[in-house]
Amino acid sequence: MQKLLIANWKLNPLTLPEAIRLGRAEDKKGVVISPPFPFVGAVGKALRYAALGAQDAFWESPPAGGGPYTGEVSPAMLKKLGVRYVILGHSERRRWLGETDKMINRKVRAAMAAGLKVILCVGEPKEVRRRGIGRAMAYVKNQLRADLKGARGSLVIAYEPIWAIGTGKPDNPKETVEIARFIKRFVRPRPRVLYGGSVTSRNTKNFLQYKDIDGALVGGASLKAVEFKKIITITKKLQ
Ligand code: PEP
Repeated sequence: MQKLLIANWKLNPLTLPEAIRLGRAEDKKGVVISPPFPFVGAVGKALRYAALGAQDAFWESPPAGGGPYTGEVSPAMLKKLGVRYVILGHSERRRWLGETDKMINRKVRAAMAAGLKVILCVGEPKEVRRRGIGRAMAYVKNQLRADLKGARGSLVIAYEPIWAIGTGKPDNPKETVEIARFIKRFVRPRPRVLYGGSVTSRNTKNFLQYKDIDGALVGGASLKAVEFKKIITITKKLQ
């Protein structure tokens, strides 16, 4: 199966012209580009090969369009804009927006019901991993159980140990692959499992050489077109 690269731009860039430029530079098959909401529609129109992603979606998705939810964006709205994938449960949203597993579960179900492919992020904090990979697996299992309760639809799991995100300190790939295999055993039907956490062109191969790591979720490095293109090239050679 083709490996998948998710470009998670987070709260970047500042302007629409910059977003379109970056989107065009990263517009390759097997890539999902996830701009911030204000740029989703326009970046989507500029893409020819990459799929369009969003970084979040609300748990209510009134088919007719509206609802009293100030500031929120529904899965149905995203679908109409051409979005195919939505990232849910990112640890930054769990941390800064107080998203709980219960909220994430509602979002997962609403996004799937609207026909979006969900990229569910899970991963443990440092204090858990310090106590061993078994503890990390138990932590991730609890997240998966809660986040996926009653969920039916297209699913990709991004395993992202929190302490590896944006720190320049990626996981040990030998342990990542064990956790990826564990996730594949636990979740049915068997999902694709990606790794996320300080992925760069220098370490892409270390992770993606494993058959059981189906791609990467890339934050910081997806904001640098030259660097991200290197990651794409390395990934293509591995499939
Ligand atoms: C992320 O956005 O989930 C992420 C893994 O970021 P970074 O690649 O910068 O660590």
